[in-house]
Amino acid sequence: MKREAFPWMLKVSKSVVQEALRNLGVAYAHWFEDLKKPKKQRRFHHPKFHKKSKDRDRFQLPNDQVKVDGPRVYIPKLGWVRMREALRFDGPIQRVTVSRKADHWFISLTVETADSQPLPQTDRAGGLDLGLKDFVVTSDGIKVQLLARLILLEQRQRRLQRELSRKVKGSKNRAKAKIKLARCLEAIANVREDFLHQLSIQILRAYDIIGIEDLNVAGMMKNHRLARAIARSAWSQFKEFLRYKADWYGKTVREVDRFFPSSQLCSTPGCAYQYHDLTLDERTWHCPECGVVHDRDINAAINVRNAVSSTGSACGA
Ligand SMILES: [Zn+2]
Repeated sequence: MKREAFPWMLKVSKSVVQEALRNLGVAYAHWFEDLKKPKKQRRFHHPKFHKKSKDRDRFQLPNDQVKVDGPRVYIPKLGWVRMREALRFDGPIQRVTVSRKADHWFISLTVETADSQPLPQTDRAGGLDLGLKDFVVTSDGIKVQLLARLILLEQRQRRLQRELSRKVKGSKNRAKAKIKLARCLEAIANVREDFLHQLSIQILRAYDIIGIEDLNVAGMMKNHRLARAIARSAWSQFKEFLRYKADWYGKTVREVDRFFPSSQLCSTPGCAYQYHDLTLDERTWHCPECGVVHDRDINAAINVRNAVSSTGSACGA
């Protein structure tokens, strides 16, 4: 059918079509398998048609047709293509995907490598308090804020989205606005991932056991809807990074129960006071039993740490 009905298909490597059909086969297999389960446990939908204008441009190539030589890669029908940087990992190539983000093309090469080496043990446990004012507060009193650049970029994204919606459908200006927005979204994803990768690895280097609190959404200020939306999506990605990297590097991540009163308990060793009336805008509070003045977030992070570590005796003050 290719020659008569879809002559444009001859312009690409025949394996591109084969890989697409293979993906379709996998999608159908998942769906059929899922149909045997009770309705509530199903995870897959019937495969959907892709559309050129809506779906991301991407295609897969079989690993034996792609060659990498330093900072260039051989792609069937295209020939040698320069890459921005050489492949950083040695080992047989397993999977090749070419995709477009904004107006850039990416090639993703999956390589089989040796398992990651575990990070050195530190014999320390740490607790994290995820918040809005500070993105992360550690039980050692370190406060890390979400990058201001990220918040600026998200504001820019909202503006570009509005601009796009005002452009006439099908016009050239609309196409231009679309590219602008796509570039902005790409920058946001890059800045955010870089920040979260670095933060998560620093935390995994510092501690063997890491306690995190299930998101403390109630503890958030009200008038910061945008900041809250940004922080919330960054938190879940951050936790995801922490978990899979902990698996790689031989560390442990434990989540504390949502109802654990981490902010209300006094973290001074030996003091069991609980401040039931703590309000959302109290950033510090004074323990009437041991006399210590607590920073709300650091106190919570210490309690989270004590909850996940068996020792729990380190000095909280
Ligand atoms: Zn106390």
